[in-house]
Amino acid sequence: MPNILEIVQPDDWHIHFREGDMLEMVTNYSSRINNRCVAMPNTKVPITDSNKAILYKNKINKASKDKFEPLIPCYLTESLDINDFRSGIQNKYFFGAKLYPSNATTNSKYGVRQISNIYNLFEILEEENSTLLIHGEKVSDKIDIFDREKYFIDDELQIIRKKFPLLKIVLEHVSTAYGVKYIKQNKNIAGTITPHHMLLTKRDVFISDKIDPHHFCMPVVKDESDLIELRNAACFDNTKFFLGTDSAPHPIEEKKSNANSKPGIFSAPCSIELYTQIFDQENALNNLEVFSSINGANFYNFSHNDKKIKLEKKDWIVPEFSVYKNIKVKNFYANKKINWKVIN
Ligand SMILES: [Zn+2]
Repeated sequence: MPNILEIVQPDDWHIHFREGDMLEMVTNYSSRINNRCVAMPNTKVPITDSNKAILYKNKINKASKDKFEPLIPCYLTESLDINDFRSGIQNKYFFGAKLYPSNATTNSKYGVRQISNIYNLFEILEEENSTLLIHGEKVSDKIDIFDREKYFIDDELQIIRKKFPLLKIVLEHVSTAYGVKYIKQNKNIAGTITPHHMLLTKRDVFISDKIDPHHFCMPVVKDESDLIELRNAACFDNTKFFLGTDSAPHPIEEKKSNANSKPGIFSAPCSIELYTQIFDQENALNNLEVFSSINGANFYNFSHNDKKIKLEKKDWIVPEFSVYKNIKVKNFYANKKINWKVIN
């Protein structure tokens, strides 16, 4: 196997930039590698109208040094201005729309309680050939945290797909074998896969009576059997799945060893290298480019990126923290060795 790998420049179809200094730091990491990024709209004040989307896009553009295109989905709520939503989709101020079930993850308290209340918005997305991006977890006191994805698929997604058969859907950060199977078996639906869901199981998160806050994310990582299916989907069954890191930073002071910890794993400093290492472990380096740079663009009807990036097979250690201005974030894979590195 050669020591240098050259691939078409990737896109990250799911990432959190946050705001302020954090946004500047994340943009630095992300624009170093990617051409396009789907910047998730669950900021402290969520991005619910086209004005906010334009402002947010400008902020990210201002912070990036290279040519870089942030794409902002509309944060769906039950009280959106429908005319603004439609024109935002038509004028491409919005890159589709993101459905957060209420209270499923960070800043999702404004999310949707009753999905049937926003069918009129799904209708617009379907008419405009736009995309519905979904955080696919059903949240209820009666549902085990590890079963949220399955219940969402069975109780909600099935109905949405039946009612809107032409609506393009991305099930974000697929975390279960069940989700992988569902995507493979159905039309007009694809999935993003994070590096951490292919590297961790619940044993890395829940340790006796504590949690490891730096491995805690939503959807929470699952079992070995799920991890294996996610690896197979990314590395081999390679048309409906694409790169979406769900890199989601929180300052270290917001990470605690209990259930009050904010969910989210910060992989931006090493995400493409982690994906490459996973594909290498699976003997599937030849399929990396399709996953990182082709499938997502095809699904969203974008052209493939012109530029290429190079990775070299060499060991390096991921630094423990990312520090920028007054912000300190613990990196995913901190102090661990990765055997691929992007070179310029
Ligand atoms: Zn996310």
